Amino acid sequence: MTPSDLATRSLAAVWHPCTPMKRHETEPLLAVARAQGPWLYDTAGRRYLDAISSWWVNLFGHSHPHIRAALTDQLQQLDHVMLAGCTHAAVVELSEKLAALTGLGHASYGSDGASATEMALKMSTHYWRNVGRPEKNGFVGLAGGYHGETVGALSVTDVPIFRSAYAPLVRLSATVPSPDARAAQPGETAADVAHRAAAALEAWLQQHHAQTAALIVEPLIQCAAGMAMYDPAYLRQAHALCDRYQVHLVVDEIATGFGRTGSLFAHQQAGITPDFICLSKGLTGGTLPLSAVLTTDAVYQAFYGTEAARAFLHSHSYTGNPLACRAALATLELFEQLDTLQANRALAAQLSTAFAPLNTHPRVRHARQMGMVWAWDVETVLPEFAQRYHAAARSRGLLLRPIGHTLYCMPPYVLNADEVQHLATQALAALEDCLLQEAELSA
Ligand SMILES: *Cc1c(COP(=O)(O)O)cnc(C)c1O
Repeated sequence: MTPSDLATRSLAAVWHPCTPMKRHETEPLLAVARAQGPWLYDTAGRRYLDAISSWWVNLFGHSHPHIRAALTDQLQQLDHVMLAGCTHAAVVELSEKLAALTGLGHASYGSDGASATEMALKMSTHYWRNVGRPEKNGFVGLAGGYHGETVGALSVTDVPIFRSAYAPLVRLSATVPSPDARAAQPGETAADVAHRAAAALEAWLQQHHAQTAALIVEPLIQCAAGMAMYDPAYLRQAHALCDRYQVHLVVDEIATGFGRTGSLFAHQQAGITPDFICLSKGLTGGTLPLSAVLTTDAVYQAFYGTEAARAFLHSHSYTGNPLACRAALATLELFEQLDTLQANRALAAQLSTAFAPLNTHPRVRHARQMGMVWAWDVETVLPEFAQRYHAAARSRGLLLRPIGHTLYCMPPYVLNADEVQHLATQALAALEDCLLQEAELSA
């Protein structure tokens, strides 16, 4: 099968996500035949460095032998069993492990990030109902927040295009200012911005806490907003305010979890324990869809009983799928075997050095880095910068998809020195390609 065959058939048969489909008349799909480590190979045998970890899910490269072996073994024991009334080793071991790593527990499972958001929101309001405060059923999130695209998750996702298209379906939640460090005025630090945003949260909670079940945040990096990074002081203050006003704190670690920000979980950098943690994306190392919600003993106890209406009501057919749980366990084993957090510090230093020319490029604003995430805001008038940059990078053997004018890298944790150099060199060259196009268009 040639790449164009597959791409053509795909356009006839598949509705691709997050894409106005007509664009593919001029922007061909990448038909991927196989993947190994950080590389994707197309059907013509060309390779592309997966510098965004296939939408932030892939941690240890594609087809990692340890995860593959664990999956093969699990497939020979138990493929799937329903989790209502049944249990199995993989889900028990994974739940114990996640509890040990977070200090929360009572893991409940879904298959995608948006479902984890739904579960956390439902659980929080149902908690307040069970303790006799049903009026606490509203939510508040951060400006620019992203928590998934199912209808419940959209209510706390502050992306204008979704809010207008699906407004009739959604009970919109409130938003408070983001602590995005780029909002710093001259002379201000990221912590100053965090304090300002926390003061706005406090003012909002003072007025609305009696009707509010939970605050939901993406800890330290609002990824979908364009890698908006912020100071951990915000999480500490938000946690204290949630405590004071009896509002749950939900941390959505779907993108930031599993080492992405430098710690295993981002909220740990603030030294807080939230009421709910949502996990997905990197949870299975990018092999199978799985999400989890973890919560406190106090929340769990409010549901504990024999009455059906008091019990948490959320189920789906593949809850706690053994293969996905086994892939997650193998992924967590890799963190220990490879001492990943430590190794990533060295890799991040190498990448930051290699990215120096991008950081100081005259068209770049707000060059920023946290853990294994780098981002640069590009000053350009080139129309459709993101698509053009994506195309330029692809022709240079690199998979990158800017968000608006924000170029970012979120690579897997397994790059060697040559791959670091390839990523940094070609990312810069693709920017120069775009600036050349911009010059030609304005000539
Ligand atoms: C990707 C993402 C989600 C949604 O996860 P899906 O698996 O795409 O539904 C939710 N929250 C955050 C922070 C995310 O980055």
